[in-house]
Amino acid sequence: MLVVMKSHATPEQIAAVCDEIERMGFRPHALPGATRTAIGITGNKSGVDHGNLSELSGVAEVIRVSKPYKLVSRDVKEEDTVIRFPGTDITVGGRDLMMIAGPCSIESREQAFSTADQVAAAGAQFFRGGAYKPRTSPYAFQGLGEEALTIMAEIRERTGMRIVTEAIDQDALDLVADYADVIQIGARNMQNYSLLRAAGRKRKPVLLKRGMSATLEELLMAAEYVMSEGNYDVILCERGIRTFADHTRNTLDLSIVPAAQQLSHLPIVVDPSHGTGKRDKVLSMARAAVACGADGLIVEVHNQPDRALSDGAQSLYPDQFIQLMDEASKIAGIVGRSVPRNAFVQPADTVGAL
Ligand code: PEP
Ligand code: MN
Repeated sequence: MLVVMKSHATPEQIAAVCDEIERMGFRPHALPGATRTAIGITGNKSGVDHGNLSELSGVAEVIRVSKPYKLVSRDVKEEDTVIRFPGTDITVGGRDLMMIAGPCSIESREQAFSTADQVAAAGAQFFRGGAYKPRTSPYAFQGLGEEALTIMAEIRERTGMRIVTEAIDQDALDLVADYADVIQIGARNMQNYSLLRAAGRKRKPVLLKRGMSATLEELLMAAEYVMSEGNYDVILCERGIRTFADHTRNTLDLSIVPAAQQLSHLPIVVDPSHGTGKRDKVLSMARAAVACGADGLIVEVHNQPDRALSDGAQSLYPDQFIQLMDEASKIAGIVGRSVPRNAFVQPADTVGAL
């Protein structure tokens, strides 16, 4: 159920409708749009009897939503969601592309600072780095945990980059939400519904990666879990799915970008690193992702990929990331987007020293 308010409805009228929805035992989600506010209703196991909602002042119409997802849908919000970061002019989901770069894992201060300085100097506005790693083997490097989060907080101070890092479980989530700017939910956790709900109770944007065999609808439903708890800042991420093809680690499904944008107002970024698993394929697929309308890229870059403790084979050398930024900028211009540049300049005395 969706209550569409008239274009000139006042904040008081919107609040009165929300109060009435609560009184009926449901949860209202007021999502302001450019021309009108729509109020999604969740918490209803079956259809809501819309009582007298359509009679309340300021209400244009009450619509039954037949799709299994609501808040993620363009039915509720026609315009693209644009996410803002307090204290910066950074936006995600607008004209600017979200360029996220950094190592798969934070391995040491030296590795993290060296990589961060180089991707920031190349213009990245977001730094990625795993503190908690969901590894296939329990004996593989699992991440430095909170120590990695403190290193990334220092990197934010030094470079101005916003921090994106994964929460693998609810304990990690509390810490990640304290330190990071964007909470990543990984492919393996895309259907961990209790974790999704918990992330929905945090007040930081969530980068939600597509599960290895998830359909678009399943991805949207996962985003709906986050939004249903009141966190509306969700960024979808295509990171490749498992198919019979074995020339790449995963099959990057770029057609999900226009398909998701048709159904949902949420931004969608592409991860060509996990999507290919091979360094020499990353630039091509990054170009293609920008060309097909992705709202950004998340790319693994390592100062010494050959020594990486995770995902070295798909990590770019810093020089390759400079080329990726240049090419992405050119392609972005053709499709009406732009690649904003971090103004960080690497101090001369640290070049090659970190
Ligand atoms: C990652 O970003 O390092 C990661 C583990 O990604 P995914 O969840 O897509 O495998
Ligand atoms: Mn990785």
